[in-house]
Amino acid sequence: MSDYTPMWSDLGLDLKSHDALLSVLGEAYQDIFLSQRDRPEGMKYFDFVMSEVHGLRIKEIVDAKAQGRIVVGSYCVFVPEELILAVDGVSVGLCAGADFNFEAAEAVLPRNICPLIKSAFGFKLGKVCPYVEASDIVVGENTCDGKKKAYEVLAPMVKDLYVIDLPQMKSDAGRGLLKAEYLRFMKKMEDASGKTITVDSLKNAIETTNAKRRATRRLADLRKADPAPISGLDALLINQVFFYDDPVRFTASVNALCDELEGRVKDGKGVFPKKTTRVLISGCPMAVPNWKVPMIVEASGAVIVGEESCVGERGTQWLTDDKGETVDQLIEAVTERYFKIDCAVFTPNPSRVDHVKDMFKRYNAQGVIHYSLQFCHPYTVEAGPVEAELEKAGIPVLRLETDYSQEDAGQIKTRVEAFRERIEAS
Ligand code: SF4
Ligand code: SF4
Repeated sequence: MSDYTPMWSDLGLDLKSHDALLSVLGEAYQDIFLSQRDRPEGMKYFDFVMSEVHGLRIKEIVDAKAQGRIVVGSYCVFVPEELILAVDGVSVGLCAGADFNFEAAEAVLPRNICPLIKSAFGFKLGKVCPYVEASDIVVGENTCDGKKKAYEVLAPMVKDLYVIDLPQMKSDAGRGLLKAEYLRFMKKMEDASGKTITVDSLKNAIETTNAKRRATRRLADLRKADPAPISGLDALLINQVFFYDDPVRFTASVNALCDELEGRVKDGKGVFPKKTTRVLISGCPMAVPNWKVPMIVEASGAVIVGEESCVGERGTQWLTDDKGETVDQLIEAVTERYFKIDCAVFTPNPSRVDHVKDMFKRYNAQGVIHYSLQFCHPYTVEAGPVEAELEKAGIPVLRLETDYSQEDAGQIKTRVEAFRERIEAS
């Protein structure tokens, strides 16, 4: 294995804390992922990516910077990857999913802010995330109040913070604002990279991003089978790697895995026995290495067959139309695609519950686990109406609100087991 210490040092990482973090992550990965039975061979690629997530992938990014490419980090699926790729930039996700260095985060943020935001600050302040340190531009967005205000605190800590103003309503005015903001972001990408976005570069970027989404949709489709050919944990991992990996290599690796899974489905082979209780997860995004709830669910004897989440179908289900003949028409198509995302920051947000119902049917699920992060107002407030509407439609719902600590793991396990029994009894 290569020695990446000089590279981490050049990026300004705190080597001692970083070593400690990698060691904890390595152990967790071994316990949670590598201990699963009957994993598809194709998961070896993703195991490799995870083992090199701070190594080889960062080296590739550092090399790309040396070739003059810009690195753009972001925290939300409203940041259009197409416009980053259209200037040959590297797009990386920066959301963090571990309760690392929360004391430092709580020194600059309120204690009662969602763990996703706290974690991003903990990683930044602890100097353990090579992705944020390698980013030439960090893109924020006006979604929830927590993130919106936290970006003001983050601004002096990063090289270049750029904030996209997002609409809060799915109105004509909202769509107009989104398009205007994407045009402004396009100009930012052009200025930062010194490249002009053309019809060809934007079409190519749309095709690359669509291909990545198509591959994850193909994977999602294969999870309809009973027995499930892949665990929910592994599928979540792939959705997490979606945000870090080289897009073309990622697409090829997901498609190769899907070829193998098609064979499994044909042979009736799965990772859990046939008729295992099938559940969907719906709610807040689960950033790496937030694996707590899926691990508990699958250890309790149910299988997760889909994620209505930004790290899941909310982030990948729509494609961008690439038929436009001018840059403006293509930006219109990009706007159209992203305007469909039904994040709980929108009010009202009725299409989200429709999507959950649709996924419930498509994946032959038997129950929905609504997952909210503590202090996340958009999703904790929306949880009540979503639960009521799903239960009214005869869909059993378990509503969980949790954080990144392991303190409530026992309690969640008890509730998940009771939920599974409720489904099995009905
Ligand atoms: S939940 Fe909303 S704010 Fe968070 S990443 Fe998804 S779209 Fe962005
Ligand atoms: S999980 Fe909720 S509170 Fe946290 S950043 Fe996302 S929308 Fe905001």
